[in-house]
Amino acid sequence: MTSTNDIRRSFLDYFEGQGHARVPSAPLVPHNDPTLMFVNAGMVPFKNVFTGLESRPYSTATSSQKCVRAGGKHNDLDNVGYTARHHTFFEMLGNFSFGDYFKEQAITHAWTLLTREWGIPAEKLTVTVYHTDDQAFDLWKKIAGLPDHKIIRIPTKDNFWAMGSDGPCGPCSEIFYDHGEHIYGGPPGSPEEDGDRFVEIWNLVFMQFVQENDAIVGDLPRPSIDTGMGLERIAAVLQGVHNNYDIDTFKALIDQSAALTGTSATGEQVASHRVIADHLRSSGFLVADGVLPANEGRGYVLRRIMRRAMRHAHLLGAKDPLMHRLVPSLVAEMGAAYPELVRAQPLIEATLLQEETRFRQTLANGLRLLDEATQGLKAGDTLPGATAFKLYDTFGFPYDLTEDALRVQEIGVDRAGFDAAMAEQKRAARAAWKGSGEKASEELWYDLADELGGTEFTGYVSTEGEGQVV
Ligand code: ATP
Ligand code: MG
Ligand code: MG
Ligand code: MG
Repeated sequence: MTSTNDIRRSFLDYFEGQGHARVPSAPLVPHNDPTLMFVNAGMVPFKNVFTGLESRPYSTATSSQKCVRAGGKHNDLDNVGYTARHHTFFEMLGNFSFGDYFKEQAITHAWTLLTREWGIPAEKLTVTVYHTDDQAFDLWKKIAGLPDHKIIRIPTKDNFWAMGSDGPCGPCSEIFYDHGEHIYGGPPGSPEEDGDRFVEIWNLVFMQFVQENDAIVGDLPRPSIDTGMGLERIAAVLQGVHNNYDIDTFKALIDQSAALTGTSATGEQVASHRVIADHLRSSGFLVADGVLPANEGRGYVLRRIMRRAMRHAHLLGAKDPLMHRLVPSLVAEMGAAYPELVRAQPLIEATLLQEETRFRQTLANGLRLLDEATQGLKAGDTLPGATAFKLYDTFGFPYDLTEDALRVQEIGVDRAGFDAAMAEQKRAARAAWKGSGEKASEELWYDLADELGGTEFTGYVSTEGEGQVV
C-alpha cells in the first residue's frame, strides 16, 4: 500500500520533475490577509503573485499546503464525522502557473499524473467544466479521450472562480472519482450528487479574465493556473478505501483513540473516533502555528474544535483527559513532513491537557446540576426544556450532551421547550437593544452565537473577503 506520506512526496516529485519550484507550506495563519481566518487553499500564499503585486524567482510552483476550513465561508466543521470526504484540517496538493503554462498543460499534467503515474483507470474518472468553456471541453476530449457524457458542463458558480469582486477570475474544471455503484450518490450536476459516490478529488482553476465589481472587464494579461487536490481524498483512492477516515494516517489515530478509551473503532462509536482524529489534527497544527484557545477570534474557533473533540471523548466514556495522549501518534504520522509539529509537541500536549481539564470541570458542574434536576424523575419522564436551556446557557452544555447523559436513565428532554427558551432569551436580548442603532450588528451577533453555541462567543466576525478559493 502506498502511504499518504509517499503520495504527498510523489505529487511534489512529479511537478518538480516538470520544472516546478517546490515551495513549503505556509503557516495556517495568513500573514498577508487580515480578512481570512485560516489558510483554506493552496493558492492563498500565492495570491499576490497571481495579481502581480509580488514577484518570485519562479513562474511555476508546487506545494502541499496545510488548510483549515472551520469558520468563515468555507466551513466544513459540521461535515466532519458525517461525510466520507471532509476534514477541518487537510492538506491541499497544488501546482501553479504564474503566467507560464495554461489550460492544455494543466489538463495534461493532471491526466498524466492520475492515470499514468498513479495508474487510476480512466473509466473511474468524470470531469466537469464551466458550461461556456468549450476550450476545456475540447481539451479533455483530446488529451484524455473522455466520452462527451463524462465531461459535464456545469452552469453554476461551483465552476467559476474569482479572487474577489475585483481581480483575476476564470472557469474551473473539477475531477471526480467514482467509488462505485454500491455507494449512494450521482455524478456532478445530478440531483443525487450530494452522496459520496462521486468524490471531487482535484479542482483546476483557469484564471483568464479580470473582474471589476463582479463583472468581467477583460482578459488577464498572463493567464494562470491554480489547482488543488485533497491529499486525503487521493490517498483514499490510491489505498482502495472509500472513506478518507480509513486511510493509513487516520487509521493510526483512530486505533490509538480506540485503544486509549477501551472502545471499538467500528460501529456506533466510529463517528466519535473520526471527530476526535480530525480535531486532533486541526488542534495540533493550529497550536503549532501559534494559535491558542481563547474566547474570541481564531482562538475561539480552536477552542470550539477542541471542546467538540473532548465531548466525543466523554461520550466514549474516557475517564481522564484523552486528547493530549494522542499527540505522540499525530507526531509519529505527520512530524517528518511537518517538523513544526515535532517542535511544538510539548506545547500542543500542555494546551490540550489544560483545555480538557477545564472542560471536564465544566462538564462535571453541568452533570451535577443535571443530577439535581432529575431527582424524582423516572424512566419515561421528560426533563423540562427550561432546565436543558439553563445547562446550555450557564455551563455551555450542548443540548445533545444533555440528551445523551439522560439516555441511560430513559429520561427524555423537552426539545420544544428548549427551543422556546432559546428563542425567548434572544427576543428579550434584542428587545433590550431596541433603539441602540446597532440592530443589524446585534442581530448578527445573536445569530452567530446561536450557530456557534454556548455563551463564550464575544462577537468576532470573519468577513473573508475573497471568492471561492481552490
Ligand atoms: P467539496 O465540493 O467536496 O466540498 P470543494 O469544491 O469545496 O470540495 P475546493 O475548494 O475545490 O473544494 O478545494 C480543492 C480540493 O481540496 C477539493 O477538490 C478536495 O479534494 C479538497 N478539499 C476541499 N475541502 C476539503 C475538506 N474539507 N477536507 C478534505 N479535503 C478537502
Ligand atoms: Mg466544499
Ligand atoms: Mg466542490
Ligand atoms: Mg472544488
